[in-house]
Amino acid sequence: MNEDNHSMKRVAIIGGGPAGLMAAEVLSGHGLQVAVFDAMPSVGRKFLLAGKGGMNITHSEPIDAFLGRYGARREQIAPLLDAFGPHALREWIHGLGIETFVGTSGRVFPTDMKAAPLLRAWLHRLREAGVRFHMRHRWQGWEGKPADGKLRFATPSGEQVVHADAVLLALGGGSWARLGSDGAWVPLLAAQGIAVRPLQPANCGFDVPWSEHFRTRFAGEPVKSVVASVVDAQGQTHTRQGEFVISASGIEGGLVYALSAHLREAIALHGEATLTLDLAPGKDLQRVTDEVAHPRGSRSMASHLQSRVGIHGVKAGLLRELASKETYADPRRLAQAIKALPLKLVAPRPIDEAISSAGGVAFEALDAHLMLRDVPGVFCAGEMLDWEAPTGGYLLTGCFASGRAAGLGALAWLAGRP
Ligand SMILES: Cc1cc2nc3c(=O)[nH]c(=O)nc-3n(C[C@H](O)[C@H](O)[C@H](O)COP(=O)(O)OP(=O)(O)OC[C@H]3O[C@@H](n4cnc5c(N)ncnc54)[C@H](O)[C@@H]3O)c2cc1C
Repeated sequence: MNEDNHSMKRVAIIGGGPAGLMAAEVLSGHGLQVAVFDAMPSVGRKFLLAGKGGMNITHSEPIDAFLGRYGARREQIAPLLDAFGPHALREWIHGLGIETFVGTSGRVFPTDMKAAPLLRAWLHRLREAGVRFHMRHRWQGWEGKPADGKLRFATPSGEQVVHADAVLLALGGGSWARLGSDGAWVPLLAAQGIAVRPLQPANCGFDVPWSEHFRTRFAGEPVKSVVASVVDAQGQTHTRQGEFVISASGIEGGLVYALSAHLREAIALHGEATLTLDLAPGKDLQRVTDEVAHPRGSRSMASHLQSRVGIHGVKAGLLRELASKETYADPRRLAQAIKALPLKLVAPRPIDEAISSAGGVAFEALDAHLMLRDVPGVFCAGEMLDWEAPTGGYLLTGCFASGRAAGLGALAWLAGRP
């Protein structure tokens, strides 16, 4: 990609995560000269990590429910998934020689649950298609005006300037910076006047000021099958059933991640958020009240709650930690606390610990082909765009779909240029 007189159009893709690699596939498949640049020594590091605990690549639920996972950005994500949705993604994976299966939760996984074989097969195919990879190239912005197409990279052999006819940024969000996506691109784009919403933790844990006693006893304990709810700024209640984990600093895990966008927003608005826990799902308030009020004779309250309501271990610990002495002494109030225990969350955990990030390049700054309106020829894709979704394969699906859309956008834009 130096200043040679190449007849082919040259596209620089910066960021070799799923979004950037999908764009590379689209563009190289149409005969363009594609170079992928990445700051790290190898591409797809977050993708590989996502595959460690079981690569949940997409979800099998009906598309309407699927789109609902993108919340306020449903409208912007819908056309991307119309063109390349969960079904198309599975077909594409099968085309790489990797089979998939639907788990009991409806989540879709590669048969061996791993990301590495998929990435290996994919990189092989991309190289065969002529994609060139430039590792340890950290993008640092443009030399001169972005319209000149001169990209500045810090490399082990010093700064390099690379010219490209079109640029596709797929730089990721701001979580797990050690895997490459550190959000350092935010000021580079903001300096060009591009609207970028601050990166914030998504699918993250939250801080709770536990007592020393509770923390020591229960940190690391899973709280199994509870119903949790949070009321958003519009007064709408969001409820999920599942499990979460007590951590030394607060709470984390699937159920918390699923509600994390609303919890984060409540904290931003009010300085704290209330997660209301139903510790006895499946038993209504009347039944719990009757059970708690049942004469307990000489039995302790702890064994009474265990035998009548099934509250023990960490659930009993939560009740003791969060309910007042007066509540504990009044069976009716205690039953209410079991069914709706308010847990105060004071802060999201730092973005670096989060599974993903919210915020990023605003959709208003992009046209329908994901090109920056104010910087023609520069396209954006993946987690660096201003959308978020819960875990469940929705993140990767959104990254693949936007990478493909941006790649096709660059293709169309280049086709219209001399
Ligand atoms: C622990 C964990 C588990 C996850 N599990 C799942 C899951 O099961 N299912 C799911 O759907 N999602 C999961 N995710 C989220 C998913 O991995 C990400 O949303 C996805 O990888 C984002 O893709 P991307 O291409 O937008 O960015 P990334 O994958 O983050 O790639 C961005 C690339 O850009 C490079 N880069 C950044 N800045 C520069 C720069 N200045 N110059 C050059 N290169 C740069 C980075 O090195 C990186 O390679 C998980 C994430 C984590 C952390």
